[in-house]
Amino acid sequence: MSAVTYIGLGSNLGDSLQILTEAVHKIAALGPVKVSKLYQSPPMGPQDQPNYLNAAVQLVTDLAPLALLDELQRFEQESGRVRLRRWGERTLDLDLLMYGQEQIQNERLTVPHIGVMERDFVLIPLLDLDAELQLKGQLLKDLPILKHPSLDVLDAGNWAKI
Ligand code: ATP
Ligand code: MG
Ligand code: MG
Repeated sequence: MSAVTYIGLGSNLGDSLQILTEAVHKIAALGPVKVSKLYQSPPMGPQDQPNYLNAAVQLVTDLAPLALLDELQRFEQESGRVRLRRWGERTLDLDLLMYGQEQIQNERLTVPHIGVMERDFVLIPLLDLDAELQLKGQLLKDLPILKHPSLDVLDAGNWAKI
């Protein structure tokens, strides 16, 4: 059974555009994808780090949640990701935002991802993919945090060349 999943992408170290483009191509090898616009956003957490590039991908996949997380973590490692500090700079962050309608809670995975409702750099790319997306009965597009977004569109076209 295939599931409609959403993955959040972020990068603020190295050649972030190249890294995100490669990540989208690796994700596309797992199933059909739709790609959001490309955004630039100020860092969350420590402020003494570069701005981020952010995007989101919708992936339809047969992979089970933990198998998908394994793949995403492998892609993070392949980008050279090193853990320096919490919410610190990284070459690539791939977060599993939603997996169908499933609610998952175990030592490796919390789905829906804990930050979705509070982070405009997650919500706005998600809404590119499906403007009617809901979480816990809440239409994401109606969340008040979206009234004053802190991110900029860098590329509204086919930036990932997919
Ligand atoms: P945040 O999760 O607040 O965005 P982060 O992305 O910087 O922070 P990471 O260092 O990438 O955090 O991940 C830490 C751990 O989070 C991973 O080891 C992973 O097992 C766990 N995790 C839990 N739920 C998820 C999820 N939905 N997507 C990705 N990782 C998750
Ligand atoms: Mg994250
Ligand atoms: Mg992460």
